[in-house]
Amino acid sequence: MWSYQHAGFTVHQLPVLRDNYIYLIESRTSNALIAVDPAEAVTVRNACKLLGKPLTHIFNTHHHWDHTDGNLALKKDFACVIVGAGHDADRIPGIDLAVSESAPPQVDGLNITVLNVPGHTSGHIAYVMDDALFCGDTLFGAGCGRLFEGTPAQMLHSLNKIAILNGSTKVYCAHEYTLANLKFAQAIDADNPALIERIADDKNSRRQHLPTIPSSIAIETSTNPFLRPLDGSFCQIYATAHNINSDPLTVFTDIRRRKDAW
Ligand code: ZN
Ligand code: FE
Repeated sequence: MWSYQHAGFTVHQLPVLRDNYIYLIESRTSNALIAVDPAEAVTVRNACKLLGKPLTHIFNTHHHWDHTDGNLALKKDFACVIVGAGHDADRIPGIDLAVSESAPPQVDGLNITVLNVPGHTSGHIAYVMDDALFCGDTLFGAGCGRLFEGTPAQMLHSLNKIAILNGSTKVYCAHEYTLANLKFAQAIDADNPALIERIADDKNSRRQHLPTIPSSIAIETSTNPFLRPLDGSFCQIYATAHNINSDPLTVFTDIRRRKDAW
């Protein structure tokens, strides 16, 4: 378990399954203890024991099993409140509170914003707490989620909402996919100095068995191949190299298609 301090809360990062992360958000001004996307229950239960506190909430970003499989067992143990997208109320196990961008959850001691970010799934949401972003499978380290239930236009719009957050915002995504994603990024953006630096940093972290996550919005906007289409000069260079239109959606769609075939 790794822990990160924010102004009013601490984020604990729990690696589970093959490459998932569950996050525990521990308020320092209330008794709130939130599990984000509990892929399984045992690890969360043990972490709660270690912290000496009961789980008060589960926040789900989307309905996939590797984000929700712990829901019912944890609810049974702790009678915690399960929070998820209203859009996915019929697909989130045990949901108690349906939220959206216009109706974020209210939790004592925390300042929470919800972003509707369809693309990976149609009801995917992200949670923003001050300078911490919990984005599930929408944005990854140097990558983005596959478009299982959405269009490239929806995903690009969703990623843009994330990209305009403060650059110092920490990106707590749900999978450790960064090194594999960086290989692909290098293939399409080889001359980007920020990318070259990131590859060295993240390889070094993994060599020491440390997570590459959280990254930050500033790191992602400068190196993530799915946020690079938001930069007009990148689009020009990419479009010329691949002989396509240089509008961001055409460039994004082409990069997503190449990644799917990678
Ligand atoms: Zn997913
Ligand atoms: Fe996932």
